[in-house]
Amino acid sequence: MSEIQGPGGPLPTIPDDLTLVQFMLDYQHPSRPPIAQQDAWLIEDATGRRVNVDEVHTRVQALANAFRLRWNIEDNDVICIFSPNHIDYPIAIWAAHRLGATLTTSNPTFTSEELQYQLNMTKANAIIVHPSNLHVALDAARAVGIPAERIILFDVPGVAIGSQTTISEFVGEGMSKPLSFTERRLKPGEARTKLAFLSLSSGTTGKPKAVCIPHISPIANVIMMAHTGNLQTAPMKKRSYRPGDVGMALLPFYHIYGLVVVMHFAIFFGMSMVVIPKFNFTDMLKSIERHRINYIPVVPPIVVLLCKHPDALKYDLSSLRALKSGAAPLSAEAIKQLSERLPKMSIGQSYGMTETCTTVTFPQLDMHIGTPGSAGRLLPGVRAKVMDPDGKLLGYNQPGQLVVWSPANALGYLSNEQATKETFVDGWIYTGDEVIINEQKDVFVVDRIKELLKVRGFQVAPAELEGHLLDHPDVTDVCVVGLPDEYSGEVPLAFIVPTPAAVERIKKDPQEEARTKLSIMKHVADAKVNYKQLAGGVEFVDAIPKNPSGKLLRRFLRERAKELQAAG
Ligand code: AMP
Repeated sequence: MSEIQGPGGPLPTIPDDLTLVQFMLDYQHPSRPPIAQQDAWLIEDATGRRVNVDEVHTRVQALANAFRLRWNIEDNDVICIFSPNHIDYPIAIWAAHRLGATLTTSNPTFTSEELQYQLNMTKANAIIVHPSNLHVALDAARAVGIPAERIILFDVPGVAIGSQTTISEFVGEGMSKPLSFTERRLKPGEARTKLAFLSLSSGTTGKPKAVCIPHISPIANVIMMAHTGNLQTAPMKKRSYRPGDVGMALLPFYHIYGLVVVMHFAIFFGMSMVVIPKFNFTDMLKSIERHRINYIPVVPPIVVLLCKHPDALKYDLSSLRALKSGAAPLSAEAIKQLSERLPKMSIGQSYGMTETCTTVTFPQLDMHIGTPGSAGRLLPGVRAKVMDPDGKLLGYNQPGQLVVWSPANALGYLSNEQATKETFVDGWIYTGDEVIINEQKDVFVVDRIKELLKVRGFQVAPAELEGHLLDHPDVTDVCVVGLPDEYSGEVPLAFIVPTPAAVERIKKDPQEEARTKLSIMKHVADAKVNYKQLAGGVEFVDAIPKNPSGKLLRRFLRERAKELQAAG
């Protein structure tokens, strides 16, 4: 069996001499509806404020000017955005790209320690932050040596901001002063190597790493998505995605799915995106009703709520025409239930990774709910191999590791040759996911072979939690695995070998066991963002199973976790 090609003919031109901002703002790609006629690009959920293409241009230019004047941002500087979704989030990205800078986007719920890890790894030297995260940003910045003047705030009406400068003040200054920079332009081919983003992912093993994403990756992925299924060719009435639609930008922009699929693809495709900073299910339903939203990109827990939550029946959701779920597995059962609740909406999935920037599959848009259980159909331009553990190529309908090539693939991990070599081989990415691909090129994710956990679509790296747990005084050895959970997909559970002293204490006083477990859970809760916490609990064991070379045999403990769950 040879490799499997994504369906559809050859892709149209993927420009390799443009930065992402030039591709989005200055260049009329033949697959894109006329930019000049595009309605608002962004709509602020709370206020209804609409930002059109002219305003985007003006703010991007002015902000780039201020970045240069105030921070002297130059080629290859790294700027961190540490914020929930905000209407100026894309503006900040594109302004930085005008100067040749790279962005690293952070989870806004990170603790100071987690943010420091990202700032240090990416060598970011300025931070754009939401007022609600300012104290964490200031603390982390102090720890890594970024001066407070190199932190600016997104504007949030009605929120006190003290003495910190805001983006709008930067924009005002950038508009009032003469242009201080020459735009960074790329030579032919340079978009393949010039970095646009450094996005965090733990990949198949180990701690979070910075994935090197060149400008061509999001550009290529946007074009690939625009050429899938019936997006360009079907009669307008039959299309589930249409230029002029209103989409929902609720999934976080800091994650590659929110960044590329929700933000860039939808805007490229001619949609207006309602920018929602924070997830609250009922508020989300109100926003759908208020803005008459047509398209909602979501993660599986939102599908579960749409199926089960009583509020989902209280609001007018009749404007919805398409839902796309991604970032984690969604069961065929959930899709069936949802299609019964919202029969007029097309429901599909896409599958992808930070390393493949972003999607490798897309929903089958010629069908109402596609093939049940499918994580989508390969995108045009993707080449896929399904491999057994010895590297032998398998055929259609045979389960094996998915290895993919696409023009959107990232380059590797920043300053981590070993991890890069293991995952990126001659441009192909070893996904660590076990899949089946059928003759129609539908991809079914059957298992995850890699260590990574996905909790509500968020990455949790067992190695990160294990390293932290080993610092607890009662822990000798540890292995973190995922415990299946209907809402979150899975939650972290730590198998722990207690120290001999802890064992002695527990022997003397049976209540010590619960106290020690609580103290271990608190150790994680104090240092890590909420979805990394040990919601699956702590289990004491005598030893962690390992192979002769000392590698953790996680599979055994995953099975053990399932047994414990079944036993209640
Ligand atoms: P991330 O880099 O955070 O996007 O995580 C990528 C991983 O999420 C993939 O390697 C899969 O394990 C998982 N994933 C993403 N999309 C899906 C999907 N539709 N179905 C199942 N797993 C998915």
